[in-house]
Amino acid sequence: MKLVFERSRAGRGTAYFPPLDVPAWTPETPLREQPPRLAELPETEVDRHYTELAKQTYGVNDGFYPLGSCTMKYNPKINEDMAALPGFTGLHPLQPEHTVQGALKVLADTEKYLCEITGMDAMTLQPAAGAHGEFTGLLLIKAYHKSRGDEMRTKIIVPDSAHGTNPASASMAGFEVISIDSDERGFVNLEELKKAVGPDTAGLMLTNPNTVGLFDPQILEITRIVHEAGGLCYYDGANLNAVMGIARPGDMGFDVVHLNLHKTFSTPHGGGGPGSGPSGCKAFLAQFLPGVRAVDGTLTRAEHSIGDVRSFYGNFLVVVKALTYILSIGASGVPKTAANAVLNANYMKEKLKDLYPMAFDHVCMHEFVMSLEQMKKDTGVTAMDIAKALLDGGIHPPTMYFPLIVHEALMVEPTETETKETLDEVIDLFRKVYEEAIAHPETMAEKPEHTPIRRPDEVQAARNPIIRYAFED
Ligand SMILES: *Cc1c(COP(=O)(O)O)cnc(C)c1O
Repeated sequence: MKLVFERSRAGRGTAYFPPLDVPAWTPETPLREQPPRLAELPETEVDRHYTELAKQTYGVNDGFYPLGSCTMKYNPKINEDMAALPGFTGLHPLQPEHTVQGALKVLADTEKYLCEITGMDAMTLQPAAGAHGEFTGLLLIKAYHKSRGDEMRTKIIVPDSAHGTNPASASMAGFEVISIDSDERGFVNLEELKKAVGPDTAGLMLTNPNTVGLFDPQILEITRIVHEAGGLCYYDGANLNAVMGIARPGDMGFDVVHLNLHKTFSTPHGGGGPGSGPSGCKAFLAQFLPGVRAVDGTLTRAEHSIGDVRSFYGNFLVVVKALTYILSIGASGVPKTAANAVLNANYMKEKLKDLYPMAFDHVCMHEFVMSLEQMKKDTGVTAMDIAKALLDGGIHPPTMYFPLIVHEALMVEPTETETKETLDEVIDLFRKVYEEAIAHPETMAEKPEHTPIRRPDEVQAARNPIIRYAFED
């Protein structure tokens, strides 16, 4: 499709202004030498341009979006209605406390519910993304060891199945990352963990259920080993969707946790809106929390706060959406949501596993991982080819090539907000694509055939994206 600049014609446009009948004003020292080169075209053309763009995007409102580890669940519209209330949108972050008691109650209630769900004692709503919440939680761990004069603890242990943000956050927080292998079942290798811990262990970062969609049954043993060595346990709760209301990180022995409101708590991701990654902790770490918390209608800063990780109260309107979600599904809806997420994932897994080899064939949690290693060996067709072919079926493909410990991985997370009918349609599509790959492997490199863009050069697109229009003159 053409860009607006390509549709532009000099002098064309929609000017509704009458001719100037007052002296023109120009600043004495204009910062620009030239007026901006805006596209010139009539309103109809602008409208069509954006409508065309909107048609070419894909989101949860368009169809199935099984992007594993991302929890692309439906974003209920009531969340948007609540976040659009003028009483929330018209607030100024520096307003006197007595004029914003409702907003403080939103902050306090959200913190209370999220603490109850995670088994934590206090939480900051300041972090603006999951990785930001991880970074914040790691700073709490750092502040804790420092406060005890235990500054030898410089290492964070991260299993190799972790989300890439875990080692990145640990490294940004100034820790050295120690990676440990998973065992053949996809769980933490206890022997390796025992070898890795010591007087230099600051902590362990763990995702449970992990990124292969499995709940590690050794969890109490794992957190005990780390605690006995003097380290703290960090829970990556980005994907709490499988266990919320059923199992709590706080009860598994974790000291710090972050959540992704833009996954589990139904607020939009990415282009759909800013994120929020609250970071919670046990009482003994609350003295280090960043920012301010709303306690009894007043804003308070922790005694030994690590400072601010973001301005003011984080993405407040995202918090409003998440609180709306929690209140609308209610205490009984939280575990039901988790149970249905697990049910949907297992349903799909069972209906696909005779064709698609499962990387780990246990009962899964909210997502499952398939490996197309054998298919690649036999036919040359890759996980990427399958994902591309699924695009022609009108769905978003699963996560590809992640987790790194599975070769030719496709990770599917259907979420609880899909109906059985949708799952059945998608299962048929996955099966059809698989059969086509076996019957005509040579055609698979040509997929997709029906999307506006077919196969972009992924490396070029990531490394040298062209995001500006280059004018010819
Ligand atoms: C999504 C995710 C993150 C990171 O969250 P962002 O908001 O993208 O920074 C961290 N850990 C896990 C397991 C995730 O799935």
